[in-house]
Amino acid sequence: MYGFIFKQYPLNIPLVEISTYTKTNIMTKSFINLMSFTMSKKLNEQYKAELSPIEYAVTREAATERPFTGKYWDFWSKGTYHCICCGTPLFESEAKFDAGCGWPSFFVPKEHAPIEEIRDNSHGMIRTEVRCKSCDAHLGHVFEDGPEPTGLRYCINSASLKFDSND
Ligand SMILES: [Zn+2]
Repeated sequence: MYGFIFKQYPLNIPLVEISTYTKTNIMTKSFINLMSFTMSKKLNEQYKAELSPIEYAVTREAATERPFTGKYWDFWSKGTYHCICCGTPLFESEAKFDAGCGWPSFFVPKEHAPIEEIRDNSHGMIRTEVRCKSCDAHLGHVFEDGPEPTGLRYCINSASLKFDSND
């Protein structure tokens, strides 16, 4: 009986090695998944502690603040607008204009700002979502109805920005 099995499966030792390797590989993958889950959870908890409820909803859950309610739609001081989550400079007051839409609007991001533009099909519309590439915060959307020189309107939630007067 044993002889028969041995003849049928002469490579039983390498098979065991392969299965051990596979098991280790699966365990390593699960461990990495668990670690990244734990880290993202921790990060979300940090954001929740540091941000106001509207700031968290906008930047981490891609919500939109109600128009004419934010800090910056009717705010015209000279300075720089930073990402509320990671502090990266994203927009300059020189590029801000009154779009009449109730959200702070810019015709161009700050030079070299890490702005990511993603096609967004949510809410039955095709729009281009704008995110901070440094920390993946949702900022708002960009539309092609802005003024010269770009013709773009970066329609950004006040809740995703923190203004600094550059003093
Ligand atoms: Zn950021």
